[in-house]
Amino acid sequence: MSLLDVRNLEVTYPGGAAAVRGVNLSLAAGEKLGIAGESGCGKSTLALALLRLLPSGTRVTGEILLNGEDVLAMKWGRVRAVRWAGASIVFQGAMHSLNAVHRVGDQIAEPILLHRKATPAGAKKRAGELLEQVGLPAARASSYPHELSGGQRQRVMIAMALACDPGLIIADEPTTALDVMIQAQILRLIEGLVSDQDLALIMISHDLAVLADTCDRLAVMYAGRVVEEGPARQVYDDALHPYGKALSEAFPRIGDPASRFAPRGLPGDPPDPVSVPSGCAFHPRCPVALDSCSQDDQALREAGAGRRAACVHVYEASGAPEAEAARSSTP
Ligand code: ADP
Ligand code: MG
Repeated sequence: MSLLDVRNLEVTYPGGAAAVRGVNLSLAAGEKLGIAGESGCGKSTLALALLRLLPSGTRVTGEILLNGEDVLAMKWGRVRAVRWAGASIVFQGAMHSLNAVHRVGDQIAEPILLHRKATPAGAKKRAGELLEQVGLPAARASSYPHELSGGQRQRVMIAMALACDPGLIIADEPTTALDVMIQAQILRLIEGLVSDQDLALIMISHDLAVLADTCDRLAVMYAGRVVEEGPARQVYDDALHPYGKALSEAFPRIGDPASRFAPRGLPGDPPDPVSVPSGCAFHPRCPVALDSCSQDDQALREAGAGRRAACVHVYEASGAPEAEAARSSTP
């Protein structure tokens, strides 16, 4: 059984923005999945939906099975427990997620007291151990958030995410607010902790190069859909979808936050989710679009070992007769 199975997930915000439009994903225990895509493609919406963190009034349909249990059908008490002990999330900009008037050690200890039913002394001891795991001295427990640097605060957030031994960590652009040197340290820290403890990871970043280095698999999102998915290195080095290609070409092969612009050679922006183009949503920007792409929507299909892509130019690669026919009929 998968640790996480997302089936046909759709998310529509109150204003009508269809931010996630039919996502299917699965993640095995201990597996690391990267999710990439330009700003506005629905990555954060997907992450927030996984733990029911979306604003009220947002319509969410489909299934999110975490250890076989549907998150969308859980009672609130169960959701709150799952947020710590099942899957926990690390956001960017930790300053906003930490409480300014409480010592960081107490903030780490709180969920341990609440969800692990630890004694105050036990929770305090565990908080100190967690701080050491994320590379901070245990004595930092008595600091207030403003006494820490941005990188140290993000380390505290990671300690909090690990506090109740979740099986899955979701990291949504965890280093975007930090400077470049610190970014690499924090990403390596997350990757190291996840590997050592055999946790599953969903790492969201606009930086494909970082994801290719740290993740097993890579999913590329465009306009609320996964348009390509496969082994991370292969997707990065040899994307099948024109959007995946444009995205990977846009990244210099070093981690550079300045590369957060639209992919090179790919003008324009992702569509407004209130009015997604007909057919393949990428067709208005696609350098290899056919006339038919403005009408024919494309579903993800098997495209070789462990790879899937949603493009008219990608043929079913399972060796099925119709796929062979399609391939040989192409000029
Ligand atoms: P990403 O994380 O890939 O940048 P998001 O999931 O944040 O993308 O956003 C996807 C789309 O949903 C964007 O067009 C964004 O403007 C829209 N959106 C995000 N949050 C809300 C909200 N609370 N209400 C309405 N639209 C939203
Ligand atoms: Mg985001």
